[in-house]
Amino acid sequence: MQHIADLVQATRAATNAADYTTLITSGVTTSDIIGLQAVPVCPNAGAYSLAQGSSKNFTTFKVMCSAKGHGSFEPGVDSQ
Ligand SMILES: [Zn+2]
Repeated sequence: MQHIADLVQATRAATNAADYTTLITSGVTTSDIIGLQAVPVCPNAGAYSLAQGSSKNFTTFKVMCSAKGHGSFEPGVDSQ
């Protein structure tokens, strides 16, 4: 999930996006996240998605996995 998060941050920077609205709305897709060669496969068949981070708005984001217990990763909040 950290890999996805790194690329999401890089995509925002590369597109000069004001915040993460577009990325969060689009989700984890190879067409929307620059440098994502393929959507990563969760070992427990979970699906990855993006959501607002701890700020509760589009200025932060977190990567989530739908598999039970896999949780989420928010840059600057969660460690590896
Ligand atoms: Zn997972």
